[in-house]
Amino acid sequence: MLGFAGNRKWVYVQHIDGKFQRIRRWTFLALHVVLFVTPWIYVGGHPLLRLDLPGRHLFAFGAVFTASDTVLLLLIGLFLAFALFFFTSLFGRLWCGYGCPQTVLLDTWIRPIERWIEGEWTTRQRRDRQGLTWALVWRKAAKWSLFAGAAILVSMAFMSFFAGARELWTGQAGGVAYTLVGIFAAGWFLDFAWFREQLCNYLCPYARFQSALTDDRTLLIGYDAARGEPRGGKDAKLDGRCIDCMKCVNVCPQGIDIRNGFQLECIGCARCIDACASVMGKLGHESLIGYSSLVELAQGKGARRLLRPRTAVYGGLLATLAATLAFLIATRVPFEASVVRAPGSLATLDPDGWVRNTYLLRVANNAADGGPARFQVSVEGLPRAQVIAPDLRLRPQEGQLAPLVVRLPASADAVPRTLPLRVRVAGPAGERVLETTFKTGETGERASVGP
Ligand code: SF4
Ligand code: SF4
Repeated sequence: MLGFAGNRKWVYVQHIDGKFQRIRRWTFLALHVVLFVTPWIYVGGHPLLRLDLPGRHLFAFGAVFTASDTVLLLLIGLFLAFALFFFTSLFGRLWCGYGCPQTVLLDTWIRPIERWIEGEWTTRQRRDRQGLTWALVWRKAAKWSLFAGAAILVSMAFMSFFAGARELWTGQAGGVAYTLVGIFAAGWFLDFAWFREQLCNYLCPYARFQSALTDDRTLLIGYDAARGEPRGGKDAKLDGRCIDCMKCVNVCPQGIDIRNGFQLECIGCARCIDACASVMGKLGHESLIGYSSLVELAQGKGARRLLRPRTAVYGGLLATLAATLAFLIATRVPFEASVVRAPGSLATLDPDGWVRNTYLLRVANNAADGGPARFQVSVEGLPRAQVIAPDLRLRPQEGQLAPLVVRLPASADAVPRTLPLRVRVAGPAGERVLETTFKTGETGERASVGP
């Protein structure tokens, strides 16, 4: 494989079509729409889906999440993780075969380009064995140029979810964004041109913890040895036994022989099912390879059971997280507020004998759209307090830092030096209560205050 292969056994994948490949093509199309079209869609003036890291905003389906929604975002992350656990325990590596970007891009762009330029798998194999010839060099150069173009396109599309599609594709995004595009594109090119199935076998963390998430009733792609063995018999029409044509091995992008039993390297792409179906179909038999579980392979289709201790636990956790998320989203207040003591100021004694505490109040209106919203500030916990509070009017996505002054008359009574204080910020769609303290200043008669 022109200098790249080393000791590695290069996998020459035979092209295959069939029922499951047609289904996969539809999911590939859907994922391409998500990757290339979604960043261009705007809802109410905001991107449908974008993670603005410098601005610390997540735009998702019309809602705007900020740093104040960290708990909510963490719970969404947990929900997605448990959804993956639940899905994997039921359906095994369906994600790898139908939804993983690596699989989708290799099957949609890279293998068709390779076949178009270098020919079918046997031709590619023969040319590579012939060594360095002009026919090999120009084909490799043309193929890698197209791979590089594909890597750049994919990286631009991916970065659009962070830097914005309009900005990125019109050259208006920052240097960091284009640098990251370059880094991602280099990574994708390396994967397309060389790494391929090794990414699944050696790098992918999901592939590594698969075995911990599945059991012997999880759906996987398996070979029906009861019907298939002994393989290579002369009278295949008798019971549809494997004729040892090797087609299921030749179409496998992972270079494995599924007839040797389930292997961790299998990405569940179903190419071997379609391959065997095309061979067995001609003999009037069902494919020897199909979706089943280890128990089903041993005991027959009747052994399929979706509800198991593992799926019940994952399903229960998922339902609990979904209910918590629904509650948090329903009661979410679309603005953030925080209060801190003004730098360098604890308590000051005014000439009129009142003790003054000064705070900095930050309010940000996180609403995605609409007109300016009014935010009223009040203070609770100190009934005799005199409050100089800002009256804030903020447009959507606007934030403001404003001083908040709280004064209390000095008192001759001995009182604690630190008094609890609550600042209530009320907006049009809810309110937030912030906890802080009022400092009385020095101890002693002169500067102590009465609440
Ligand atoms: S064994 Fe079959 S399903 Fe698994 S990776 Fe190979 S072709 Fe795909
Ligand atoms: S494609 Fe089917 S018949 Fe051919 S070797 Fe594989 S399992 Fe046997």
